Amino acid sequence: VPELPEVETVARQLARHLEGRTITRVHTHVDSLRRPLQGGKLRADVEGRTILRIGRRGKYLVVELSDDARLMLHLGMTGTFRILSRSQPRGKHEHVVFSLADGEQWRFFDPRRFGMVESFAPGQDDWPPPSLAGLGPEPLGPDFHGDYLHQCIRGHRQAIKVLLLDQRLVAGIGNIYASELLFRAGIRPGRGGRRLTRPACARVVCATREVLTEAIAAGGTTISTYTNVDGEMGMFDRELLVYGRGGEPCLVCGHPVRQRVQAGRSTYFCPRCQK
Ligand SMILES: [Zn+2]
Repeated sequence: VPELPEVETVARQLARHLEGRTITRVHTHVDSLRRPLQGGKLRADVEGRTILRIGRRGKYLVVELSDDARLMLHLGMTGTFRILSRSQPRGKHEHVVFSLADGEQWRFFDPRRFGMVESFAPGQDDWPPPSLAGLGPEPLGPDFHGDYLHQCIRGHRQAIKVLLLDQRLVAGIGNIYASELLFRAGIRPGRGGRRLTRPACARVVCATREVLTEAIAAGGTTISTYTNVDGEMGMFDRELLVYGRGGEPCLVCGHPVRQRVQAGRSTYFCPRCQK
């Protein structure tokens, strides 16, 4: 499932490929992805508009169009983008296709259909939608720091790993990177939020920045299906220290890495390195 580094990688690539280009037509080939696709609204909001800027907020892609129109996209579990010539036949799972003025097409491929493609009309005050407005600070931005994290989680009985996955607390962290950053911070994923001191929170923030920055530099992680816009897989898999390594020796101390299920998700940690 794509997390912040994968979405950031895609955003940067889409920006490089698409900024400055004009969308002439939008074709929707299914009725719904995660939510119903509003084909008529998409066409009205997007057709004829130029792509000015493509960025990321949490795990969402935000496309700013001319006339103050916008697109918001989410990769869901299996979403990827392709930029292909119009003459290339449409693939089976290419559910939304944006035709560009120069004859190429920007296609959203999503076999599991948990992704999202939504548009916002120019000058409407429904921007930002609740799914964006409710997000916590960006983990690589200045508002995510030790004091902030400490304020948010003190008094919480819930495990630190589960708290970090709450997008209202901090945006974009998912299951893989939560395990990795807690290993680097030396903190057990099952430790209750209220049992983290201020210095421990500062270590979590520091480890978060390190892991996400390195993962972005490696083009993200490809656990199952993620590929970037150029069809390449992320390279961060080989740098994962605990995720997916249950029973294997810890790369720091040699003790077997433990695997637990927490809130329905697999969690990995070293019982010796993490307290
Ligand atoms: Zn260890």
